[in-house]
Amino acid sequence: MVKICCIGAGYVGGPTMAVIALKCPKIEVAVVDISVSRIAAWNGDQLPIYEPGLEDVVKQCRGRNLFFSTDIENHVAEADIVFVSVNTPTKTQGLGAGKAADLTYWESAARMIADVSKSNKIVVEKSTVPVKTAEAIEKILTHNSREIKYQILSNPEFLAEGTAIQDLFNPDRVLIGGRETPEGQKAIQALKDVYAHWVPEDRIITTNLWSAELSKLAANAFLAQRISSVNAMSALCEATGADVTQVSHAIGKDTRIGPRFLNSSVGFGGSCFQKDILNLVYICECNGLTEVANYWKQVIKVNDYQKNRFVNRIVSSMFNTVSGKKIAILGFAFKKDTGDTRETPAIDVCKGLLGDKAKLSIYDPQVTEDQIQRDLSMKKFDWDHPIHLQPMSPPASKQVNVVWDAYQAAKDAHGVCILTEWDEFKTLDYQKIFDNMRKPAYIFDGRNILDVAKLREIGFIVYSIGKPLDP
Ligand code: NAD
Repeated sequence: MVKICCIGAGYVGGPTMAVIALKCPKIEVAVVDISVSRIAAWNGDQLPIYEPGLEDVVKQCRGRNLFFSTDIENHVAEADIVFVSVNTPTKTQGLGAGKAADLTYWESAARMIADVSKSNKIVVEKSTVPVKTAEAIEKILTHNSREIKYQILSNPEFLAEGTAIQDLFNPDRVLIGGRETPEGQKAIQALKDVYAHWVPEDRIITTNLWSAELSKLAANAFLAQRISSVNAMSALCEATGADVTQVSHAIGKDTRIGPRFLNSSVGFGGSCFQKDILNLVYICECNGLTEVANYWKQVIKVNDYQKNRFVNRIVSSMFNTVSGKKIAILGFAFKKDTGDTRETPAIDVCKGLLGDKAKLSIYDPQVTEDQIQRDLSMKKFDWDHPIHLQPMSPPASKQVNVVWDAYQAAKDAHGVCILTEWDEFKTLDYQKIFDNMRKPAYIFDGRNILDVAKLREIGFIVYSIGKPLDP
């Protein structure tokens, strides 16, 4: 029986391994993590992450051929294939601070693999890492245990949070990069055999190591660039009377452009887009490619601009101040169908409003009060001027109230902001919300999910990104 171990039981390690276990009943899959609470949650009734369909998959194979454990060393020692899916955040200090990937978690995982291994292993990069990381990992492994042979593969993960299970069941492609030696090709084949249990052969792409590592950074950079492109258009739409939804529809009909990922919004978030572009920028700079680095940097700058623009629009609409005014924030997660708030644009928007002394009443169906209070009490990480994250003083919590219902959030509010595109926000009773708000009552739709004409009929003053403003 092939044994797989995955180091890191997070948003990627948990779901990917659960799907491998489900699709390959004859493979034993252990997911290990240093976080005792995370592993306890994976073994309990309340999984540590919210993903549609995940609970069902985990319940089908947990205890059968899927195990979650903190006994890292034993599981790694016994495994034939070791996936490493640890976090690779942006460095906050030292060389490359603000841009380069922090590989400390990766390095300690690699050293531990070298320490405990007693048999040859395939080590798979599942985390998103800078191009050439495999070379560094190889060095750590071979210098620490010369008698054991390792093959390093790059198998970046392309799932999107919110649709992770669907994406894993039916991936656009699975990418496997490896050495071009016979041993490297054998390792690629072993991993291909795992995916071949459910992924059609023509969707499994094999490349050299560096192409696979770079493709993941490139894919995220292209996706983020598309969002920044449409968001840049949204500003121009507002200035000219064009409607960004109509423009997106018109350009998306061009098969060379395509319709997906053309929704204008308050900005992209999530743990990956910004960090991976910064990583790319750093690699370009290290290779003396300044103009290329500047090109990708602009994608993040436009994203920051979009978030600021949204805050400024709220404040300027409400007579140039939100001081003391109650504003309902509907949605805090970085996108719908996840409880993940890492780099969510809601943090910047809320902080912008808190900076002008607004009172916020926040509701998100999947985000806890603790998460929101923690996110809002951290100083914003400034990638241009990196400093350690520090608590803000005084804590923002006095101005922030987290509630468990959209109607409660909007009661007596001066304005409502939609910051996450949760489906439930599309079908709220906006007449009821309007009746219970202060007047004039504003709606700022940061995700373009509401029917502007209907809201205006009710009596709201509406700002929807990239759409003609209220007369
Ligand atoms: P995460 O923070 O949710 O999970 C990482 C886990 O690794 C944590 O639980 C942490 O405790 C654990 N860990 C860290 N060091 C460890 C060690 N030495 N031993 C054991 N466990 C250790 O991160 P994530 O969102 O799952 O992302 C993991 C990687 O996958 C990152 O490189 C990310 O860029 C990439 N990725 C993420 C997504 C996504 O949507 N979240 C998608 C594709 C790729």
